[in-house]
Amino acid sequence: MTAINTAYGLDLAVIGGGASGLAAAVAAGRELGEDFSAAVFDAQPRCGKKLLATGNGRCNLTNRYAAAKSSCYHTDDIQALRRVFSGVNVEDTLGFFDNLGLVCREEEEGRIYPSCGQASAVLDLLRLELARLHISEICGCRVEKIRREGDLFVMSSPLGIIRSKNVIIACGGKAAPNLGGVDWGYNLLCSMGHSATRLNPSLCPIPVESPHLSSLKGIRAHAKASICDGRGVIHSDSGEVQFGDKALSGIVIFQLSSAAANARSDELCVELDMLPERSEQELVALLTHRRAILPHLTLENYLTGVFNKRIGMCLLKQAGMTPLSRSVSELSDSDIRRISSVIKCWRFPVNGKAQWNSAQVTSGGVRLSEFDGLTMQSRLCKGLFAAGEVLNVDGICGGYNLQWAWSSGILAGRSAAARLKNNEKGRS
Ligand SMILES: Cc1cc2nc3c(=O)[nH]c(=O)nc-3n(C[C@H](O)[C@H](O)[C@H](O)COP(=O)(O)OP(=O)(O)OC[C@H]3O[C@@H](n4cnc5c(N)ncnc54)[C@H](O)[C@@H]3O)c2cc1C
Repeated sequence: MTAINTAYGLDLAVIGGGASGLAAAVAAGRELGEDFSAAVFDAQPRCGKKLLATGNGRCNLTNRYAAAKSSCYHTDDIQALRRVFSGVNVEDTLGFFDNLGLVCREEEEGRIYPSCGQASAVLDLLRLELARLHISEICGCRVEKIRREGDLFVMSSPLGIIRSKNVIIACGGKAAPNLGGVDWGYNLLCSMGHSATRLNPSLCPIPVESPHLSSLKGIRAHAKASICDGRGVIHSDSGEVQFGDKALSGIVIFQLSSAAANARSDELCVELDMLPERSEQELVALLTHRRAILPHLTLENYLTGVFNKRIGMCLLKQAGMTPLSRSVSELSDSDIRRISSVIKCWRFPVNGKAQWNSAQVTSGGVRLSEFDGLTMQSRLCKGLFAAGEVLNVDGICGGYNLQWAWSSGILAGRSAAARLKNNEKGRS
């Protein structure tokens, strides 16, 4: 391990070499040029471990609509979020990456990926730019404590004391501990007087209970999914649902998990409309028609051809139509109405908390309202900046979370550089 010699003090220390920290360091370095000392510190043996896993290794690095759709984010300060995105929007971010040499391609729903299909290309280009700017990456170095001493921040780490005029905390969140997710950044910022909201895993499977789940494990189906509390629907979305052993998964469920994480009620349930393109009345007509044309079948196959066979059988069991060895011709009109209402509203009570291991982001974090959305500088401590998931901002799936990391990181880097330049001018 390299010992750190920063007794004289760095101009800028970036704590966390993930998406937001690397973008911040590059943005600062480009503003400041050569006469400037900066380093990125990361606790992991290499920077960007989580970035490599994004988009299933393809890195869905942004979304065409991300900056314009603030309703797709949860935060305590929507105005500050808008200010950050007006400082660095999607076009600016694509320009930033274009300058690094990254060619991108847009796919469905505005999702943008590197054309080469490799998350590693995003990381490589950021690191190559750091090297060109002579910004060191110091890995295997967890910053444990931070305090203010005169004009400098003094930080302790296993490699020694780090002193710096400006600090950007870009430590990410608790999600995906297997990829380096930790809560250290919250602790560092809170030790400097900041406060954090409750942290919850988000963009993850929702644990539910149902006697049918084990027989459906691995099956995918198109559905409209809603997360509901005792008072009604909190959030709905349509898309592919994946049935797991003890949880529902798939992108549509990931989107609901964020609303679930922020819900006040503990009594939540997921409702699946398994045939959203038909009204309940149309569904009753379809099921009545099937009873007329398929009287020779047993119930086991009554819904074969409408749903995956195992899903069809579970829906019938949920509607109380057992035993399934009965003949379709025995179904009464009220049986058909009961089956139809289960198909339109298949209810799964949420059972327990989502897991950090399977979460893509953290819902909650250090309050964004405690930072200036124009600069990402702390309102409590000059020279202290923050970016990325450590702050109380989380977005939906589809490139929204990385866009937040890039926008807040680039803004923090540029602002830290501007502060250094101003302080230099003040001295001369
Ligand atoms: C499997 C998976 C897939 C994802 N896919 C996408 C996607 O396709 N599109 C999208 O928009 N979002 C995606 N996300 C979310 C996205 O990866 C995060 O929102 C983003 O990485 C957050 O960036 P960050 O810089 O805040 O934190 P991170 O990228 O987590 O980086 C934080 C870094 O700080 C370091 N660190 C923490 N504390 C300290 C300390 N005290 N001292 C030194 N170093 C420290 C950590 O080691 C880490 O390297 C995905 C997440 C996961 C888990």
